[in-house]
Amino acid sequence: MGANFYIRALMEAAAKRLTGRHVEILYQTPYSQRLGRAVNGTAQKSGGRGIITLEPDRPLVDIYKTFLHEAAHLAADWDRFEDSGQPGGVTVKVTYAVNQLHTSMETRAESQAHEWDAWATSRQKTTVGEKLLELAACYPGGVR
Ligand SMILES: [Zn+2]
Repeated sequence: MGANFYIRALMEAAAKRLTGRHVEILYQTPYSQRLGRAVNGTAQKSGGRGIITLEPDRPLVDIYKTFLHEAAHLAADWDRFEDSGQPGGVTVKVTYAVNQLHTSMETRAESQAHEWDAWATSRQKTTVGEKLLELAACYPGGVR
């Protein structure tokens, strides 16, 4: 089972709660301009909104984990994103130490994604749909 309309709606609601931003979820093969190849997920800023693009042809639990990772980028790295208005992955303004910056961004996003999933699991939620609904409705702090 891949992602469906219901899961997408839950992801958009969870992303709003977790990032404090309006986030659109796209199910299509993402392309990273930085890496020059297709990837499993990208996050970007467009017109003041977040866009998370997810490869749909994967197991749902993997799509979910990538979603959390990309949402973490939007939550933590928002001010680093260029508002390109174009699909195409994480783009950052800085031109120095880009590799080191990306390493720290990836480490932090992965850590945040694990934290969000662990919180949902601690609330006795086991399916992707249950976890997304719990994150969307009850994650502490809510919309910032
Ligand atoms: Zn990442």
